[in-house]
Formats: sequence, C-alpha cells, structure tokens
Amino acid sequence: MKNKHYDVIVVGSGGGTKLVTPVANLGKKVAIIEKGPLGGTCLNRGCIPSKMLIHTAQLASLIRDAARFEIEMEGSFNVDFERLVRRVSETIDKESASITPYYHDHPNIDYYPHEGHFVEKEVIEVGGERLSADKIFLAVGARAAIPKIPGLEGTPYMTYQEALRNTKRPKKLIVIGGGFIATELGYFYSAVGVETEFLVRSVLLRPEDDEVQEAFQKAFAKQVHLRLKCDFQEVEYKNQVFTVTYKDEKGEAQKAKGDALIVATGIKPWTDTLHLENTAIEVDEKGFIKVDDHLRTTQENVWALGDCVGNYLFRHSVNFEGTYLFRTLFESPSDTPIIYKGVPHAVFSNPEIAGVGKTERELKETGASYIVGKNSYAASARGMALLPETGFVKLLFEKHSLKLLGAHIIGEEASNMIHMLILAIQMDATLHDLLEMIYIHPALPEIVRNAARDALSKISS
Ligand SMILES: Cc1cc2nc3c(=O)[nH]c(=O)nc-3n(C[C@H](O)[C@H](O)[C@H](O)COP(=O)(O)OP(=O)(O)OC[C@H]3O[C@@H](n4cnc5c(N)ncnc54)[C@H](O)[C@@H]3O)c2cc1C
Repeated sequence: MKNKHYDVIVVGSGGGTKLVTPVANLGKKVAIIEKGPLGGTCLNRGCIPSKMLIHTAQLASLIRDAARFEIEMEGSFNVDFERLVRRVSETIDKESASITPYYHDHPNIDYYPHEGHFVEKEVIEVGGERLSADKIFLAVGARAAIPKIPGLEGTPYMTYQEALRNTKRPKKLIVIGGGFIATELGYFYSAVGVETEFLVRSVLLRPEDDEVQEAFQKAFAKQVHLRLKCDFQEVEYKNQVFTVTYKDEKGEAQKAKGDALIVATGIKPWTDTLHLENTAIEVDEKGFIKVDDHLRTTQENVWALGDCVGNYLFRHSVNFEGTYLFRTLFESPSDTPIIYKGVPHAVFSNPEIAGVGKTERELKETGASYIVGKNSYAASARGMALLPETGFVKLLFEKHSLKLLGAHIIGEEASNMIHMLILAIQMDATLHDLLEMIYIHPALPEIVRNAARDALSKISS
C-alpha cells in the first residue's frame, strides 16, 4: 500500500471545495477525497435541483392563479413531469462532471473518487492508498435520517435524494416530515398536480418565528392535506400502495394511502464513514463532530466544517466556514475565531419564507427588551399589484439601542428581500438607519420600511 503526504487533505467536495482550489493555487499539494459525485449535496441532491424544480412549480402556481389577474385561459395545462425531472438531473450531472477534468488538470490537486476513512490518528486510507497531511479538513456532510417506524424499512419510500430524481409522477403522495426539505418537496409535487398529504409529528417549520410559522401553516394547508401531531404506528406497502397508520391528536387511529411516500424527517451526519474511533476526534451524541470557535476538532491539525459539524445546515454557512478557514489558515493567517453574525435562511416553498437573526421566541427566552415592527404585503403600494393573500415583514429591534436583532419575512421574494436585513444585522444597523434610506417606490422593500415605521410608532406613542 502506497503512502503519500500532502500539505492538505479535504474529505468531502461540497463546502470542502472552498479549501481545494484556493489552497492549491497557493502552490500547496492538496488531496480531495469524495466518494460521491463532485459538488456534494447542494449541487447533486439539494439546493440546486430542488430550486430548479420549484421554479416550474412556481410558474404552475402562477398559471393556476391567472384568473385573479384577469388572464383568461381555455382548458387546462400540464407539466411534463418526466421531461422536467430529466432536464434538471441532466443539467446537474453535467455540472458535477465538469469539475473532474478541472481537478485532473490542476498540477497541485489529486482527486480520490472513493470513500476515505482513518486507519490511524493521522492516516486516511482511500482507494488502496494511505494518505497523511499537515492539515486535514473534514467536510463529509450529512444524509437523510430515517425514523424508526415499523414496516418502513424495505419499502420503496423516497428520501430527498430519490424524490428529486423521480421521473414518474405519483397520483397521490404522502410526505412524512414538516421541515424545510419536506415543505419544499411537498410544494413542488403538489404544484405540478400531485395530490399531496402531509403527516407531521409536530407542526410545520417549527424553528421559524411563531407568527411566520402559523401564517405558513395556514397558507400551506390550502394546498395540501395537512395532518399535524401524528404518532406514527406503521407503514405498509402492498400492491404498489403505501398505507401509513398513525394516531391523530385525539389518539384515534388513522390511515393515509398513496402510491408514493417521501420521508423527510431530518438529517444524520456522515461521520460514521470516517472510522473516527481510530482518532482523537470526538463527536456528540448525534454524531456531529465537536469543534471549537476556530472549527478545530479535538485532534490537532484536523478541522471540520459544514453539515457534519451541524452549527448551521446550509450551503451558504459551510461556504462561509470554508472561506473563514482559508483566510485564517492560509491567505492571511490569524487567530481570529469564526463569528456568525447573521446566518440567514430561506424556505423556498409557497409562500416563501426568509429570516435572519433572532426570533421573537428566542428574545422572550433570554428576557431581552425588544420592539416589534410589522407590515403586511397587502398594505404596501406593491401589494396593490400583487394581490397577496398572505405575507408580512416582521422586524425585532433592541429596545434601548434600537439595533436590529431579527428579521422575518413570509411572502413573495422573501429570499431576496431578506438581503438588505442581513446587511443591516451585519453592520449593527438601527431602526433609524432603516428609516433614513431612500426606498424605490413602489418596490417590495417598502414593506420593510413600513415595518420599521410600525416599530417607530411604538416607541413614539
Ligand atoms: C433537498 C435539499 C434542499 C436544500 N436546499 C438548500 C438551499 O436551498 N439552501 C441551502 O443553503 N442549503 C440547502 N440544503 C442544505 C445544503 O445542501 C447542505 O447544508 C450543504 O450542502 C452541506 O454542505 P457540506 O459541504 O457540509 O456537505 P455535503 O455537500 O453533503 O458534502 C459532503 C460530501 O462528503 C462526501 N463524503 C461523505 N463521507 C465521505 C467519506 N468518508 N469519504 C469520501 N467522501 C465522503 C459525500 O459524498 C458528500 O459529497 C438543502 C439540502 C437538501 C437535502
């Protein structure tokens, strides 16, 4: 077995890539180990294919809604489901495949297309070779976690991975789960014409600000059959039909039937593939790698980032972590800890949601003094054109300094609208900063200004 030493080894080619080419371009020898398609979850089975499919879903929702805008249509329309999924999968596969020649051609990068694991504290075995390095970065991500429901194992249920590549449109879909992956996938399937039933253990999108969560749930329930507080008993698959038996809130047994089942109840880190028992790298009870505020693991010269750490579970957060590690360890070395000032998130469902900073619940829990400012889409000038049925901007300010602590948006373009508020939190902006800028009339961000005015009215009254 060959032994090779590198300056840097990166395991995992999602956010880990932030440490591959930039480090190699500094003249350092880099090994990238990736057992799956290059690009990781986001490109191959996450953010990108889901948003490509959801774009069609949004267009379909708009067409269905056309009559509200005086557009008369004759007959019905159809989404060519198979062609859509094939186009998305082909685009993704081409994009992922385009990374391979780049790594092959780079004089400082060696690409190992296999699963790697530690055989000794500082040695990783991969594809029959043993590698060591001055610095090792673990960015192995996560996969779908499957709940222990009797009968589920062995049935042809889908996780997000299969659901994004499934070319056969189901007639009736059951979704188990209520997080962002479940609500995005469920929205896609329902908007392209699949009858969809959600079975949720608690409520939809529990971590959102309570008012946003309630508004979303109410609006989503108009699009899908929604069963909340389900206690799952059994899954059966017979004659190509899934039957999910659950107890409802009253403890009464209920059954949901469908020809397809998506299970989206959370994720589990891939760290079990790394044989960390051969190292001094510690994980928590759920398998996430323990790191300090410099993303250092409990073993010297090994860092970890992204979903396998679990600080935040987004592609933009692992990118931020990778960029931080590159900057502080290679580009301009420093001992600065990583500071996550405002980590935003979005849920690309219907309605769309985005948020940054604290929720009102979190502020209450810490006993903070705060002011809330709120404004609805419908009350805005742009609302006159959009005829929105739901949607608002909610801002949370620190009572004394008037600093923005949190911002939550539900409604059209929420994932774009939130960006001015991410910057505001990044720059410690106050209520007055938000009021003093000039807003384009009649653009959607005027709803942000109106929410800030609402907060102002509460301090001046
Ligand atoms: C359906 C879906 C939609 C999403 N939408 C969004 C979104 O809109 N926006 C957003 O920010 N986030 C989204 N996410 C989350 C986002 O995809 C992840 O947070 C992000 O991709 C995590 O990046 P990572 O680098 O930590 O891990 P990954 O991208 O998962 O990369 C880890 C890689 O390591 C490889 N690997 C694992 N173990 C080994 C081993 N032992 N040896 C070699 N290779 C190994 C894996 O094959 C994988 O390719 C979505 C996720 C899903 C599932």
